[in-house]
Amino acid sequence: MHATEPASVPGPQCESACRVCGHDDDPEPFWEGGWPNEGAICPCCGNEPSMNDVSVIGLREKRGHWLGRGAPWDSPSSRPKDWDILEQVKHIPAEWR
Ligand SMILES: [Zn+2]
Repeated sequence: MHATEPASVPGPQCESACRVCGHDDDPEPFWEGGWPNEGAICPCCGNEPSMNDVSVIGLREKRGHWLGRGAPWDSPSSRPKDWDILEQVKHIPAEWR
């Protein structure tokens, strides 16, 4: 829905889901006001949002590496017992898939 916005807009206003893995259980949004919330490291894939994450290609690459390693949790103690990766990746915002 933001497809017609100029490229200078870094991103949507607020994103609570990780762009790499779709983890969406953190109290802090990963992106706010179109800017990366630095320091909000994803406990799942370990990604820290940065301006490197404004490219779908780059995000797919990160995601590919993470999945290729077996989708390990960066913070294994945060991993829910009934964690379902297929459910989680559905939360990746559509424009970053
Ligand atoms: Zn993540």
